Amino acid sequence: MNFKRVVVTGGAGFIGANYVHFALSAHPEWQIVVLDKLTYAGNLENLEGVMHRIEFIQGDIANPADAHKALQGADAVLNFAAESHVDRSLLDPGAFVRTNVEGTLVLLEAARKAGVRRFLQVSTDEVYGDLHGSDHHSLETDPLRPRSPYSASKAGAEHLVFAHGISHGLDVVVTRGSNTYGPYQYPEKIIPLFITNALEDKPLPLYGDGSAVRDYMHVFDHATGIDTVLHRGVSGEAYNLGAREQISGVQVADAILEILGKPGSLKRFVPDRPGHDYRYSVDPSKAEALGWVRRYSFRQGLEQTVQWYLQNRAWWQRLRSQKEHRYLMQTWYEQR
Ligand code: NAD
Repeated sequence: MNFKRVVVTGGAGFIGANYVHFALSAHPEWQIVVLDKLTYAGNLENLEGVMHRIEFIQGDIANPADAHKALQGADAVLNFAAESHVDRSLLDPGAFVRTNVEGTLVLLEAARKAGVRRFLQVSTDEVYGDLHGSDHHSLETDPLRPRSPYSASKAGAEHLVFAHGISHGLDVVVTRGSNTYGPYQYPEKIIPLFITNALEDKPLPLYGDGSAVRDYMHVFDHATGIDTVLHRGVSGEAYNLGAREQISGVQVADAILEILGKPGSLKRFVPDRPGHDYRYSVDPSKAEALGWVRRYSFRQGLEQTVQWYLQNRAWWQRLRSQKEHRYLMQTWYEQR
């Protein structure tokens, strides 16, 4: 499929901004419109150097007027915009329902009215729920069993997306990506939190015994996976995107401390997250069959990411000094 005018919601956030950088080099002919509310996680510095090549609209996907404005003349919509942090969804779930569920519905309606040719919903492997105690890799046909307010809101959004495909004939595709890391990730998520804490000689908080495993995927590979599904995915289908990795929290901490030459004593075991999912793992064969090839192993991707945080101290130091970051650290991690 070919597109000319592409709307990227949440394009000032972590994965959205990385996708915009990738798309500008892979599809230089595209007109890219970024619609982003600029919440605490949205940051125009993430789009530095490319702002002159895109149209930026500050707006809310849950506001029909903002969605209508952004989608005029668009061929494709990629919905990255979301409240994305599980821990925050335990503190304030309402914000997750507003943006992730209601916002997706408003965008779908706007896409239908604007005659958009393809709607791609960026979802997550967390919709499958916990695979604790099994060695199963989730398949797209598995039932959705979300267990946190975050993953429940993402599953709700997916159902609305598929319903719009069935009820209104909208061309929809869904990606279910695994835990992602890389440049421009807000320093509340595990990998940038651990890197920046280690650089400040602060403890690295590990939930429980730190043995929960995730399939960590570099953001460049997540971006190319999304792009592959946008162009080659079959309408009405979901596609898992993962790196075929199984890495525990302790392994993440050890690898970061080793790369930075910091002591293992910085690891700090804290009481577990309520309802913590112990294991996620997806089978990405269906997306690979579309021709998606990943670039990074976990070790290579982590080393590249640590270098980026070393070279961009001003970027993360400013975010860590803001009240939204201090609030989460004080109300959540420091109490544990
Ligand atoms: P992020 O929190 O870094 O960025 C989210 C962006 O959305 C921000 O720029 C924010 O300003 C914007 N936004 C939030 N609410 C909005 C609203 N109502 N209207 C418009 N913009 C709004 O998130 P991320 O990690 O880049 O995640 C992007 C997408 O990928 C999300 O849909 C998330 O569920 C999904 N995902 C993330 C991961 C991961 O590990 N980070 C893994 C799989 C899937």
